[in-house]
Amino acid sequence: MEVGDPDTHGNTNGIVHLSGVLDAADGHDLDVAITRRAHLLGDLGNDAPLDVRRSVALGELARADLMLDLDGPGPGSPGSLGSPGRKAVVNVHITDTTLVGHNPVGRWDEGRCPISSEQIKEWLGSASTVIVRPVIDLADHVPIDSYEIPERHRVQVQLRDHRCRFPHCTRPATRCDLDHARPYGEGWPTCPCNEVPLCRRHHRAKTHSAWSYDIVMPGSYEWTSPSGFRFRVDHHGTHPPDD
Ligand SMILES: [Zn+2]
Ligand SMILES: [Zn+2]
Repeated sequence: MEVGDPDTHGNTNGIVHLSGVLDAADGHDLDVAITRRAHLLGDLGNDAPLDVRRSVALGELARADLMLDLDGPGPGSPGSLGSPGRKAVVNVHITDTTLVGHNPVGRWDEGRCPISSEQIKEWLGSASTVIVRPVIDLADHVPIDSYEIPERHRVQVQLRDHRCRFPHCTRPATRCDLDHARPYGEGWPTCPCNEVPLCRRHHRAKTHSAWSYDIVMPGSYEWTSPSGFRFRVDHHGTHPPDD
């Protein structure tokens, strides 16, 4: 079974693609179970199309399973791992466009995709553990007078950039160094607008080779290779600078 990576599948609305190859009997049972629950949901007043109800049903079946304490000697006994349930860390952003438009307002860390305010409401009402992180204004400038980058900058930069910002690199920003784009030693600030996630390898490439980049705007970077090729790196990936 495979659950699509929302980044590679280009999903931006809190939906993942799921596909898999199953033993015929397992596949049949899964299909019957999903359909049965989807019809039940319909009887209970869920008026979404059958396909949507089937997808809801599959999630419910999964959570019902996660509630079972399958690997412990019993609830409360020493060594019991308990049931994991669903735990989601949701970063909620409130912006002026959120209030007027239908933009996604949150980013779900484990699913690595934006989610809508409707989904957040639904999740808060279900039997899941949802951790809502405080609002972080991604455009905030709070420079500090130190070379060391504080944790709150780190979180803000990771939410803005998601990945190493070297051309074509996909390493998650959570596993990257933060580069001072313009050197602190030359008077540039330790401020999110001057901090860019680069994985260790590409941080070294930037520091020790002729690779360089400019910040077009926070979240959008223009790289120049040692032989003079240029790349734009932003939320759409890596592409020629004139796109
Ligand atoms: Zn700044
Ligand atoms: Zn990298």
